[in-house]
Amino acid sequence: MACELIDKIVVHEAVGKKPNRQQQVDIYYNFIGQFNLPLTEEEIEAAKVEAEKQAAKKAKRKTERQRERNAAFRAKAKAERWAANEGHKFAKRVCEHCGKEYYPNGNKQKFCSPECKKEHQRAELEQKRFAEKGNHTFRQKTCKICGKPFWLSNGQEVLCSEECKAINRRQKQLAYYHRKQSEQNAGEAI
Ligand SMILES: [Zn+2]
Ligand SMILES: [Zn+2]
Repeated sequence: MACELIDKIVVHEAVGKKPNRQQQVDIYYNFIGQFNLPLTEEEIEAAKVEAEKQAAKKAKRKTERQRERNAAFRAKAKAERWAANEGHKFAKRVCEHCGKEYYPNGNKQKFCSPECKKEHQRAELEQKRFAEKGNHTFRQKTCKICGKPFWLSNGQEVLCSEECKAINRRQKQLAYYHRKQSEQNAGEAI
């Protein structure tokens, strides 16, 4: 009944201090518009509560609309991004190995293909080995006598030092001597 009769209620800011505090409340009735009527303190309070409720509702609707607009904006930006990347999630990138342009599947992808990745890793390893070689022309080898690694100076050596070469010579002589000795023994036995 009241809802049908009342179009809207406008509650004005209160003026003056108690007990002279006054607050204007305009009630717009359907069919007759604004209509002056003395109101009780309770009625004013009720009208104020109602007005606050309406304001809160309005603010909530505003937040919801803003949220919807934000979501729509994000969706549009995403669609534009995909369109710009010809249906790919990420933008075109240049392969760090072959230099070709490609569309990556992830943010950290560096190469256009598994082959390029493998080839790049192999080249890196080679470079590392080369760096380790430093000023040496030939690679490193393990000495047959002492078992220590050493750098080759002509690519042919098998022993690391003069000392190891001397040991090797002595071992060979000893082996020759033992062979001769056993051959001699075998001859005597016959
Ligand atoms: Zn590549
Ligand atoms: Zn050695």
